This record gives sequence, C-alpha cells and structure tokens, in this order.
Amino acid sequence: MNFKTVAFERSFGISSQLTESTLPEIAFAGRSNVGKSSLLNKLFNRKGLAKVSSTPGKTATINFFSTDDARFVDLPGYGYARVSKTEHERWAELIEGYFNQERNFALVCSLIDIRHPASALDENMVRFLQDAQLPYLIVLTKGDKLSQQKCNQQRSALRKQLSIDDDTPMVITSSLKGSGIDNLRREIARFVEN
Ligand code: GDP
Repeated sequence: MNFKTVAFERSFGISSQLTESTLPEIAFAGRSNVGKSSLLNKLFNRKGLAKVSSTPGKTATINFFSTDDARFVDLPGYGYARVSKTEHERWAELIEGYFNQERNFALVCSLIDIRHPASALDENMVRFLQDAQLPYLIVLTKGDKLSQQKCNQQRSALRKQLSIDDDTPMVITSSLKGSGIDNLRREIARFVEN
C-alpha cells in the first residue's frame, strides 16, 4: 500500500451518483468533530486534503480520494445537533445508499473520540458494521488528550461497551502528535492486501 500519492477524486451529495467501485475501498465514519479530516490529512501527510473545521455540521457529502491501489471514502459526519430534518435525511440517504451498493468494501474505520463513552449514534454505527459483517476497525482519536494509561483504560471500556471482539483492532491515534498513524496505515494495508 502506498500512502504517498493520493488525489481528491470527487464529492457526492446523492448516493446514486457515486462512481462505480473499481478499487478496494476504505471508508471513514464518525461523528462530526471526531477528527476525521485531521486523520485523513495525517494519513497522507497532506494538510489541505480533507477540510479541517472547528465548526461541525457542514453540508453532508461523501468524498472520494484515491491512491494507486485503493480508494478512501470520507463519509459524512453524524450527530451534529443543529442540522435540519432535510440535512439529516440527506445524510441518511448518503450513508445507507453507500452501504447498500455492491462495492468493494475492504475496510470501514469507525472513529470514536477516546475521551468519552461511545454515543448512541456511535453504538448504532458499530452495531450496523457488526450486523452487516463488514470488515471494520475502531480508530480512537485525540489520544494526546489523555495519558497513556487513561488511553488504555478507555480502549478496554469501549471494547466492552461496543462488544468488540479481540480480533478487531482498536487503534489509538493522535493527528496532533502523529502517534498511532503508522500503526493505522499498517492495519489498513493488512485489510486491503487480504
Ligand atoms: P471532523 O469534523 O471529524 O472532520 O474533525 P476535524 O478533523 O475537523 O477536527 C475537529 C477538531 O478537533 C479540530 O479543532 C481539530 O483541530 C481537533 N482535532 C482533530 N484531531 C485531533 C487530535 O488528534 N488531537 C487534538 N488535540 N485535537 C484534534
């Protein structure tokens, strides 16, 4: 797997427009503000690749980025309290539309903020991945905000809360410090090359 050359492909506001799945896809899901854009930028060492914003709740789109051997799929963030019903419907259409298509799902990275218990929406997301038997892993973001010991405690607590089996990786990352990023790259490569 090569993380050196990546290009933004396209943004989609409606799932029927999604281009056909030609490469293994690695999707990223999580609540708004979890650190998804920062993580994508860090994975590829490209600051402006995915937009980083401190004001969550931008218009929902699915964004495709591609490398030589895989496609990275930035799913719209969930759980922003102040979105309209229309915006929520748009979000649901995109997520459900994406997962209902015949696509080459190599891996779904479900992002959760390491500082807090998983929210009801995080629980729904993970339960969906488990029920659909999609290949997935958990990325615990903002690891720099807690001590190493606290990080490990939180990881165990979240494993229990979300009923995540021991074979499913839970990678602690910090986009600020860069920790865990290599580990995540290795896990992604392992799933894509499987
Ligand atoms: P997104 O809405 O999930 O794409 O989240 P962003 O990447 O835009 O990040 C939301 C906020 O969290 C921004 O203020 C980021 O600077 C901050 N953030 C993201 N990742 C980290 C991290 O690893 N550590 C810390 N301390 N802050 C982070």
